[in-house]
Amino acid sequence: MSILVVGSIALDTVETAFGKVEDSLGGSALYFSAAASYFCPVNIVGVVGSDFDSSKLSFLKKRGVNFDGMHVESGETFRWGGRYHKDVNKRDTLFTFLNVFEDFQPKIPSQYQKTEFVFLANIDPDLQLQVLDQISKPKLVVLDTMNLWINGKLSKLKEVIARSDILIVNDEETTELSGESNLVLAIEKIAAWGPKALVIKKGHHGALLYRDGAFFFAPAYPLKKVVDPTGAGDSFAGGFLGYLAQSDNLDNRSMRNAIIYGSTIASFVVEDFSFKRLVDLTQDQIDQRFTLFKDMVSF
Ligand code: AMP
Repeated sequence: MSILVVGSIALDTVETAFGKVEDSLGGSALYFSAAASYFCPVNIVGVVGSDFDSSKLSFLKKRGVNFDGMHVESGETFRWGGRYHKDVNKRDTLFTFLNVFEDFQPKIPSQYQKTEFVFLANIDPDLQLQVLDQISKPKLVVLDTMNLWINGKLSKLKEVIARSDILIVNDEETTELSGESNLVLAIEKIAAWGPKALVIKKGHHGALLYRDGAFFFAPAYPLKKVVDPTGAGDSFAGGFLGYLAQSDNLDNRSMRNAIIYGSTIASFVVEDFSFKRLVDLTQDQIDQRFTLFKDMVSF
């Protein structure tokens, strides 16, 4: 099984209470791929500028991430800058320079068009629809989005939601998307638009899975130090979908395991800046923390 992901490949400048990194590897598609690569091969479709140093991707290539669908366009790579507050759950976006990403038109290479597992990372819903139009009968489409599209392109976004199987959003986005302040009513309203399941990320409070009218809740793994929360959501999605694709099973048990794997990998990502923690992270370390996590939530 392999996964297709379409999303941003970025150079991030991030400031937290623990320091600052400039032009370090980032982007939703890369964070997703790094996490999912622990479970199965990943094919990325995205764009970078001619300033992008592809040698930075070697650790991901070694892990089975395929970059044949990454286009290099003349111009500069997408850049994003963010500063986190002392309370790491709050951040200010300092800048978003779309650069070559502004004209990104995802072209899915023919060898990926029959991919069974697809992750539509947070990009313009029009582009997400273009991706879906190029793929034949995927088994599972998982969708991410952000408030920019909820506020600016709601009707297109609803079209994508209707064509997706699982929507992953945070609690604030759930409220904005549905117009309901009660989370349960909000979830039920969105579920009626089409997706079979919703995963609501609640930052350091964990994640909530809604499926067939039932809930499953997992806390976040307790950490003493969160150095850089960037990419936590995308790496959660990578662990989640990576596990589902590897197990090729979408029953309740798999979905619950997937939530815990997603939370486990996200808990590693935030322990250092950018991808630093993932470069040497082993499968054994992930499995050990998964076991601790499982013990923590079983009673
Ligand atoms: P997260 O921390 O999960 O919100 O993801 C942060 C990542 O998303 C960073 O690495 C950014 O490069 C990337 N990002 C930020 N804004 C956008 C955007 N408008 N479109 C696509 N990717 C973005």
